[in-house]
Amino acid sequence: MTAKDFLKRIFLLEILKGMALTFKTMFSKAVTRQYPLEPLEAMPGFRGLHALAKDKEGNMKCIGCGLCVAICPSQCIKVFTTEGPTHEKVVERYEIDTLKCLFCAFCVEACPYGAIVLTEHYEYSDYVKENLYMDKEKLLQNWDKYMAGEKGEEYFKRFWKPLSNDFKETEGQAVFRGYERR
Ligand code: SF4
Ligand code: SF4
Repeated sequence: MTAKDFLKRIFLLEILKGMALTFKTMFSKAVTRQYPLEPLEAMPGFRGLHALAKDKEGNMKCIGCGLCVAICPSQCIKVFTTEGPTHEKVVERYEIDTLKCLFCAFCVEACPYGAIVLTEHYEYSDYVKENLYMDKEKLLQNWDKYMAGEKGEEYFKRFWKPLSNDFKETEGQAVFRGYERR
C-alpha cells in the first residue's frame, strides 16, 4: 500500500467525497415522478402495446403472409387465413399474447407491409389475463387509439427507415403475382 492510499484510508477520504456529493444534490429539485399520480410520457418510438396498421382508406394492411409469426422469438403471434370470394387471402384472425411478448419489435421489422407496430402506449396492466390477449379487432382499435392521423406514418418514417421506403418492390425484384385458376 502506498503512503497516499494509507492516508486516504486514515482520513476516510472516499466517504467524505461521497458525503459532499450527497450534500451538494440534497437541495436540488427531485427528478423522481410519483407514478401513477404523475403520469409519464413515453419516449417517441417506445415499444409498447401492439397495433395492426390501417391504410389511408382505413383497411387493415396485413395480408396474412405469416412472416411476423415466423420471426417472433416467443411464438406469441397467431395468424389464421381463409380464401376470399375472388381467391384472395383473407386474414380471419390475428392474435398476439402480449404476456409472452418480449417487445423486441422483430415482427415490425419482418413485416414487408408495415402492418404491425408497437405503439407508445404502456399502461395496460390488468387483473384479467384474457384482456391482455389481443385479437384482430382489439389490435385494429389500438391503431385508431394510439396511431391515429399522421402518427402511424411518422412512426415508420422515423423509426423504420429505410424499411418505410421498401414497401413497394425494388426495381428488378421478383414478386409473386398470383396465378390463374384452371
Ligand atoms: S415484439 Fe417480438 S416477441 Fe413481441 S410479438 Fe413482436 S416479434 Fe414477438
Ligand atoms: S403483420 Fe405483416 S408480416 Fe405479419 S402476417 Fe401481416 S403482413 Fe405478414
